[in-house]
Amino acid sequence: MNACPICPRTTDDGLHLCPLHAAELRGWLAELPRQARLLAEFVTPTAQPAQGRLGGTGRATAPIPVDLRVLVLLGPGRYDAIGPDDDGTAPIAAVLGAWAGHIAYHYPAAARDPYGTAYTQPCAQARPVRGESITGWCTWLTAYLPFALTLPVAAELHRALESLVYRVRDITHAVPHRHPMTAPCPSCDTFALVRTDGQWGVSCTFCGHHMEPEAYDQHTAAVLHAHQAADDAPESRLDKIPT
Ligand SMILES: [Zn+2]
Ligand SMILES: [Zn+2]
Repeated sequence: MNACPICPRTTDDGLHLCPLHAAELRGWLAELPRQARLLAEFVTPTAQPAQGRLGGTGRATAPIPVDLRVLVLLGPGRYDAIGPDDDGTAPIAAVLGAWAGHIAYHYPAAARDPYGTAYTQPCAQARPVRGESITGWCTWLTAYLPFALTLPVAAELHRALESLVYRVRDITHAVPHRHPMTAPCPSCDTFALVRTDGQWGVSCTFCGHHMEPEAYDQHTAAVLHAHQAADDAPESRLDKIPT
């Protein structure tokens, strides 16, 4: 068990992020392709009126103002995952691709030379099956996330994706919905458990406790069982006898 580099919780054996922060990372990778589609709507001119050119005034229709930040986020570009600090202007695909490359470099690839000798070497590069698009990189990074969590750079990946997701949400104003859960938190006993759209598991917004869905189901069943047992206790049965 290690300490999570982001919060006071401990991590599972051999991992470098606690379950809550690992779930957050996985959630962002599921969220980014959807956010990118929303961003794309900002740059797709809808129902462009044609009268501008035919009107005879010699003036074209005023162009739809395009947020330059959107073009940058969706555009091509370069980004260095372990280079100097992120200046907050890198395109989404560049950030994801650079991180995939960085993770691939640490991933031991088994290979065999022409003489049949087996050896392992770092992967030369990441090749997303769905192409080097935002969706392609998110799919790749999600598949390699269990491995990425074993690397000490997991906290930096978390930081990079967090700032990226917040830059995008700042423009789209689309924030994943949180659904309050009915059972109290098993760790702090407050009614602060939520399930967030696109994020795996249930988290406590008060103490940060994180549970897998099955663990939450078991916890809810135990809470219900405890309530039923209390209702069936002899004292409470006496209370229910009509007088
Ligand atoms: Zn943590
Ligand atoms: Zn809690």
